[in-house]
Amino acid sequence: MSANTANHVELSDIFNEDEQRVNWHDETLWWIRAKRDKAAFKIPEWELLRDTASQIKNNVLSDLHNYLIEFETKAKSNGIIIHWAADAAEHNKIIYSLLLRKGVKQMVKSKSMLTEECHLNEYLASQGIEVIDSDLGERIVQLAEEPPSHIVLPCIHKKKEEIGEIFHKHLGTEAGMSDLQVLTETARIHLRETFLNRKLALTGVNFAIAETGEFVVCTNEGNADMGAHLAEIHIANMGIEKLVPNKKQLGVFLRLLTRSATGQPITTYSSHFKKPRKGQEVHIVLVDNGRSVQLGRADFRNSLKCIRCGACMYTCPVYRRSGGHSYHNAKSGPIGAILAPNLDMKKYADLPFACILCGSCTHVCPVKIDIHDQLYKWRQVIVKEGYADATKTVGMRLMNLVLSSPKMYRLAGKIGRWFIQYIPSAVNTKYNLWFKHREMPAPPKQPFRDWYKKRHCLI
Ligand code: SF4
Repeated sequence: MSANTANHVELSDIFNEDEQRVNWHDETLWWIRAKRDKAAFKIPEWELLRDTASQIKNNVLSDLHNYLIEFETKAKSNGIIIHWAADAAEHNKIIYSLLLRKGVKQMVKSKSMLTEECHLNEYLASQGIEVIDSDLGERIVQLAEEPPSHIVLPCIHKKKEEIGEIFHKHLGTEAGMSDLQVLTETARIHLRETFLNRKLALTGVNFAIAETGEFVVCTNEGNADMGAHLAEIHIANMGIEKLVPNKKQLGVFLRLLTRSATGQPITTYSSHFKKPRKGQEVHIVLVDNGRSVQLGRADFRNSLKCIRCGACMYTCPVYRRSGGHSYHNAKSGPIGAILAPNLDMKKYADLPFACILCGSCTHVCPVKIDIHDQLYKWRQVIVKEGYADATKTVGMRLMNLVLSSPKMYRLAGKIGRWFIQYIPSAVNTKYNLWFKHREMPAPPKQPFRDWYKKRHCLI
């Protein structure tokens, strides 16, 4: 699948060409949503946890500047080197300069959506650096030369047979082999060699604690730990919003994160990194890349509470049936559609419209982000700024004209009925998306108004 066509409708069409895949993608994600529900309902205080997490994040966002300074001071006193990156380009340059300074040409990387946001792999490849993604799902999409399609399950759009083909081509497994046990064992051997040979490892950050200057990385595969513990240099990159004020509050988020992400009670590895071991260097790159702009947008600042659990994607009927690549952005689904227009309103103007405003995302979000309200608000901003699709704005103007005048409404009804009866092909064209998946209805013999009048009930 190509993610070059920057339009959600067109990219969804590509995904929808394979109906079997769409059904299976939809069912798999809904199955995870159901697992999330079971895990959440086992905890009587679930709603209290959501409220608490939301309030902690409110507090962080309202005093972010001071929490960041506190975190930097503590981390430095722990022996960690801190870097600040205003945008993606600066983030990439900082990491490249560290590789250059150490004369390292290869790097192992565990899951970090921030590197996807900054297009780090592509940048480093252009500088001659080889990056190996160590999260299994990320490694699969990396070998397939595709971006991740989900923030927690990067290759959820791939069938096991397709993964078998990728492994056969790149890792030498038998042709036609799609046994998951064999594939996982192969990946394990391949990645183990990588861990042993790499001098520099990069990890993301799930939570950073201002009070102690430490950070926490959550994985189910232990790949972040393997990379960070075996490498001489550990770089952790984090968005500036990842802070939690103190260690006591961390438990609230750890309890919510994996239950929402996979339905597990706890992540298999929640690793705390506080200071470098003897002879090791630890760097943290704190990245803004549009976050302070979003913080200044009163209607959208709550989106910075996101803990990247992916629950809004599992539950979203649009995401489930259009696939993550249709969002043409590192972060897909409902939260991606809120974050992306902040980075580039014109490029991502289509995304807030890829939503039926059912509110299911808001209902499951562990930190209580008002996701569907924000999507609705983005639409208004995008229309006002003139970035909305012309067919939408012209269509809405026409609707406004017709619906605000009873005369126009009657006339439009008459014309419409005439066309449906005598020239249906004028309505049922490729330009009329409504008819794409629907049967043409038989035109009514008379409008409802006339039918009503005939029964002596004048309106
Ligand atoms: S917006 Fe909420 S539900 Fe969606 S990924 Fe972020 S924390 Fe999870």
